[in-house]
Amino acid sequence: MATYIVLLGPPGVGKGTQAKILAEKTGLVHVSSGDLFRENIKNLTELGKLAKSFMDKGELVPDDVTIAMIKDRLARPDCEAGAILDGFPRTPAQANALKKMLASINGDVNVVPFITAEPATLIERVSGRWTCRAQGHIYHQKFNPPKVAGKCDIDGSELYQRDDDKAETVARRINVYLEQTSPLVDYYRTQRKLVEIDGTQPIEKVTVALLSAIKN
Ligand code: ADP
Ligand code: ADP
Repeated sequence: MATYIVLLGPPGVGKGTQAKILAEKTGLVHVSSGDLFRENIKNLTELGKLAKSFMDKGELVPDDVTIAMIKDRLARPDCEAGAILDGFPRTPAQANALKKMLASINGDVNVVPFITAEPATLIERVSGRWTCRAQGHIYHQKFNPPKVAGKCDIDGSELYQRDDDKAETVARRINVYLEQTSPLVDYYRTQRKLVEIDGTQPIEKVTVALLSAIKN
């Protein structure tokens, strides 16, 4: 049976950071909707153009195109053993669509670690975030600095600050999360899939908590 892990939590809480570590430790593929949109923006695709118009405002990209993109990604051979989903689903419609697409291959979401932190922490994290141009590796100027300033430790590419990590856009993204994504907490809690993780701990401690949540 394939394993599907959904990382839930507000923007900046550490989902991407942890998804990359978990992917290495479990061998499951990291599927990030945000990374997929940014790849489309970089490649100047129609989807990228559409997504950018929403992302720049801190709004969600419409469900239909987001769902189609993820469906396509999960159908690729490297997802046969399952995936670590980061940033998807973000609305009840997306969660229902995920359930349907997994049911069609006899799968289901196995566990939903819900990583939490207060808005002040999220803002501090996002405003110090530096992202690698080539593959989206994630750094923080204070909490997880690269060895050489401005350069990715892993692939040497340039680090940049995301356009949507500006203070006013981050505030909007946190509100969008509260309005549109937070209903998923109850959705997965009712299904007994939710495991709460204290996201204010250092990166290594959050990883330990996640690994234990996944094992159980
Ligand atoms: P998300 O994918 O949930 O938006 P990221 O993984 O991109 O979050 O993390 C946001 C920022 O916070 C990054 O700069 C990252 O280096 C930093 N960060 C992630 N986890 C922690 C942590 N546990 N403690 C301190 N900083 C963290
Ligand atoms: P963060 O790491 O801060 O949580 P992401 O990289 O996951 O941010 O997402 C960046 C932006 O991409 C979002 O603000 C939104 O515009 C868009 N996006 C990502 N995932 C989704 C999704 N599942 N549904 C709709 N829009 C999404």
